[in-house]
Amino acid sequence: MTRISDLLAAGPTYSFEFFPPKSDRELLVLSRTLLELQPLGPSFVSVTYRGGAESRQRTQDLVTGMLHTSALAPMAHLVCVAHTRLELAEILVSLRKAGIENVLALGGDPTDDARAPRELAHAVELVELARAIGGFAIGVAAHPAGHPASPDLVSDRDHLAEKLTRADFAITQFFFELDEYLGLVADMAGRGIDKPVLPGIMPVTSMRSIPRMAEMGAAVPEWMTSALAEADAAGGSDAVRRRGVELATELCRALLAAGAPGLHFYTLNQSRATRDIYLSLGLAPDLSRAGTG
Ligand code: FAD
Repeated sequence: MTRISDLLAAGPTYSFEFFPPKSDRELLVLSRTLLELQPLGPSFVSVTYRGGAESRQRTQDLVTGMLHTSALAPMAHLVCVAHTRLELAEILVSLRKAGIENVLALGGDPTDDARAPRELAHAVELVELARAIGGFAIGVAAHPAGHPASPDLVSDRDHLAEKLTRADFAITQFFFELDEYLGLVADMAGRGIDKPVLPGIMPVTSMRSIPRMAEMGAAVPEWMTSALAEADAAGGSDAVRRRGVELATELCRALLAAGAPGLHFYTLNQSRATRDIYLSLGLAPDLSRAGTG
């Protein structure tokens, strides 16, 4: 098993994020995506978590399955919402017993379970719990434009700095402007924090997905919407996909040139955009063995 803190100490990491399938159809899609992305040799993969009663076991099943049936190094996400402190401690212990050494400690998005308890108010408390249990490399979320619920950017940066003092690394919400990432890293440096902050990459590959991006975490900027609309007018959906991959690749290049410690791809359980960007960046070790999906 591999601790992400050790990987980051050794050099840049390139990682992929997945969500656990909720149906047989989603399972088929994910299995195919994993087959296609494994040949790219990601440094690690991460699996999201929902705190709902039916969904909470799925993350653990998927990361444990990956650990035992593939060469992938998995990280489990875990959230404060919907759990008591004791439940969170039990989940962390069972992850460790299953051999999982990487956890992303999160506040969590609200669940649809109205009875959900919430004993830990903020992710930093989950970092402390995971640290007390021991044996984990611990990551946290960072929000380049500030967390949407934060009253102001300064207090959000202060809380992030406090989290990062205790955690090993951060992964950002996706963003589209290099300066947002550089601003966040500079703000951490100004607070004496130099832990690795992995930029989260979300290629926008269809016109349809543009409004969804704002709901998912970050609005697509005007200049990018115009560039994609231009591609659409000239060549339809294929041209939009190509332009979206091109723009994401440019951002990745600029991030690496600026010293980012790696790249974290939000795959949405699809392989194509991530594979295309990998290819353009020259990161893929042997694409001839990867599929086409
Ligand atoms: P926190 O660090 O708790 O911050 C939340 C808010 O509280 C911020 O405004 C912060 O400034 C403020 N705050 C923090 N500490 C304090 C304090 N001590 N006192 C007062 N205010 C404080 N969600 C899921 O449900 N499942 C997932 O698997 C998931 N994966 C994610 C992966 C990544 C890489 C990212 C970036 C986000 C992910 N999310 C996931 C979304 C995340 O749970 C939400 O953005 C959530 O609203 C905030 O999470 P956080 O860990 O940043 O919370």
